[in-house]
Amino acid sequence: MQETLKQHYDLVVFGAGPGGLSAAIVAARRGLRVALVERSAMVAGTVNVGLCLHGFQDDHGNRVVGGVSWELIQRCIDEGGSTGPTHLQNAHMYSTTPVDMAVLQKCALDMLEEAGVECWFHTLATEPIVEGRRLASVKAWSNSGEIEFIARSFVDATGHADIAFRAGVPVRSGRFGDGAMQPMTLGLSMAPVDITRMMEAIGEGFGMAVKPGMDAEDYVWFALNFTPWREQVEKIGIRLGDKGTCWGNSIYPKIVNLNAVKIIGMNGADARELSRAEVASRRIAVEFAKFMRENIPGFEEAYITRTSPYIGIRETRHIDGVYTLSDEDAIEGHIPDDSIALCGYPIDIHDPIDGAARFQRVGGGRFGISFKSLVPTTLDNLLVSGRGISASDQAFGSVRVMGTCLAIGEACGYAAAMSKDTNANIGEMDGVVVRSALEDAGVMMV
Ligand SMILES: Cc1cc2nc3c(=O)[nH]c(=O)nc-3n(C[C@H](O)[C@H](O)[C@H](O)COP(=O)(O)OP(=O)(O)OC[C@H]3O[C@@H](n4cnc5c(N)ncnc54)[C@H](O)[C@@H]3O)c2cc1C
Repeated sequence: MQETLKQHYDLVVFGAGPGGLSAAIVAARRGLRVALVERSAMVAGTVNVGLCLHGFQDDHGNRVVGGVSWELIQRCIDEGGSTGPTHLQNAHMYSTTPVDMAVLQKCALDMLEEAGVECWFHTLATEPIVEGRRLASVKAWSNSGEIEFIARSFVDATGHADIAFRAGVPVRSGRFGDGAMQPMTLGLSMAPVDITRMMEAIGEGFGMAVKPGMDAEDYVWFALNFTPWREQVEKIGIRLGDKGTCWGNSIYPKIVNLNAVKIIGMNGADARELSRAEVASRRIAVEFAKFMRENIPGFEEAYITRTSPYIGIRETRHIDGVYTLSDEDAIEGHIPDDSIALCGYPIDIHDPIDGAARFQRVGGGRFGISFKSLVPTTLDNLLVSGRGISASDQAFGSVRVMGTCLAIGEACGYAAAMSKDTNANIGEMDGVVVRSALEDAGVMMV
C-alpha cells in the first residue's frame, strides 16, 4: 500500500475562497510556512459563479476593508479587470466591486506565489485527527494519494466548516428552527447583449462605471425585473420571489453574468441533494437562456458563453463559536472591542422556502465581527473563516459576502502569525490585540 505523504507547516488553510485566500497570503508574508489546500483548481471560491464583490465599503460609502484584500482589488484595477467599488442607484446596498474572474484569479495566484504560499490544488481535505482540544493534523486526498497536513495552526475556510464539523465541533445547519438553507444558484453568462436596451426594458437598480477599454460609463451591476414574464419563467423553473427580481453584472461590453437560476429546498452539504441541484440548474440555465433570447430586448443574438463551474452555495453549516454574532449585533450595528473585521453590507437573506431575497440595512451602516465568532467551542488551534463562522440568521445574511470574508481571512492570517510569535494557540489569542494589529496596519478601517 502506498504510504501517506506527511507535510509540515506553521499554518494550513483549507479552502482557497475569499475566506482562505487572504489568510494564507497574510500569514506567509509575515514569515509563516503556509499551505493552502483547495479541492478544485481555482482560487477565489464562489466568485467563479460570476459575481461582484460586496462589502468593501460600508453602507455609507466608507471603505472598511484594507490590507491584502484591497491590494487584490487594486491589482485587478491595474490589470484592467475591475472598476473598483461602484456606487449603486435604486439598490439594496451602497456599492459593489465588479471584477473579471480570470483577472482576479491571476492576481490572487501572483500574490500567493510572491508570498511563498504552497498551493495544493485538486486536494480534498477529508479527515481531521484530533488530540484533546487540538487538531494534530488533517488528512487529504489527491491524485498522488493520501497527504497528511501537520501544523501548529489551521484555518477552515471550506465554506461548509467541513474540517471543524468532521473534527466534532458542534455546528448548526441552515437557519435556526427548521434548518432550512438559503437557495443555491448557478451562474450564467451570455453574449453579445445590448445592455442599454436590456436596462430600458427590465432594469431597476444599477451601478455604472467606465469598463476596461471604454471611454464612457456603462452598466456594471443591475437588478432586473421579470414580473411581466412571471408565469413563463417560473414554468422553466426560475424562482422570482415576490418582487420578480434577478441580478446580474457586466465587466466588459456586451457580456452579462446572470444570477438567476436558483434552486430551493436542497442541502449543499448533502452530496445527493447537491448533485440533484447541479443537474436541475444546468437544465434550467439552457431553457432560461432561450427565454432571454426570445423575449428580452437586447438578447436577440445572445448565447450562453459560460455556466459557472459548479452551483453557488449560499449557506450550509455554521460553527458553534465561543461567541455567536447575533441579529442585534447586525441590526443595531454593534462594534465590540474584539472586532477583527467590519461588515457594512445589508442583511441579505434569500428565503429558503420561496426564494425571495429580503434586505435590511445594518445599524450605523456597519457592524463588527467578534474574533470569538471565528473560534470553535471545542478546539484551540483552529479558526473558521468565511461564511462558516458562528452567526445568527440575520448576521449571517450580512457577513457572508466576499469583501467581508476576505477581511475575516486576513484576521485569521494575522492571528496565526501573532500566535506563533507568542507561542499561543491561535484560538486563544486576545481578539482586542489582534484588532489593534489590524487597525495599525490599515487592514480594518474603522
Ligand atoms: C449564488 C450566490 C450569489 C452570491 N452573490 C454574491 C455577490 O454578488 N457578492 C458577494 O460579495 N457575495 C456573494 N455571495 C456570497 C459569497 O460568494 C460567499 O458567501 C463567499 O464566497 C464565501 O466565501 P468562503 O471563502 O467562505 O467560501 P467559498 O467561496 O465557498 O470558498 C470555499 C472554498 O473551499 C473549497 N473547499 C470546500 N471544501 C473543501 C475541502 N474539504 N477541501 C479543500 N477545499 C475545500 C471550495 O472548493 C472553495 O474554493 C453569493 C453566494 C452565492 C452562492
